[in-house]
Amino acid sequence: KASDPDFFSKLAEGQNPGFLYIGCSDSRVPAEEVTGARPGELFVHRNIANVVHPSDPNAMAVIDFAVTQLKVRHIVVCGHYLCGGVKASMEEGKGGVLDSWLDRIREAASLNLEELSVISDEEQRYHRLVEINVKEQCRNVANLPVVRDRYRATGYPKVNGWVFDILTGELIDLKVNP
Ligand code: ZN
Repeated sequence: KASDPDFFSKLAEGQNPGFLYIGCSDSRVPAEEVTGARPGELFVHRNIANVVHPSDPNAMAVIDFAVTQLKVRHIVVCGHYLCGGVKASMEEGKGGVLDSWLDRIREAASLNLEELSVISDEEQRYHRLVEINVKEQCRNVANLPVVRDRYRATGYPKVNGWVFDILTGELIDLKVNP
């Protein structure tokens, strides 16, 4: 308020974000810090390993509102290297609610089994699965009727897949085109 006296009164007028950001709940990858966005610029949904699944009413409500009401121009799915959720999905299931959540990442992995199985180095396979998970979640977003219909009618929203590299601070555009 000291540096910008109108800051909060402008925020109170309402939101008109251009982006829906879907990211991981990991405390090291907060949406605004990763992207440099300001309050009012991102509509945000986060969960373990940035998963988008039609059976998840939370994610579906967020996407529906972002597309039909806010009319966002871009949807970003942003994963990150060293993602604990992705790592856990590579291990054997232990049952329970967390494990059934991780099945969504295992689904993404199984769709890309041929590529993953030839990577013998486990660290590299882990890195690649982070990227593949982003790519598959982008595909899930793009296939939702609410997204598809609006894209066909207006050319928006565009779906973007990014990975944040925790080791370097770099934000990488995977240039997915779902
Ligand atoms: Zn994560």
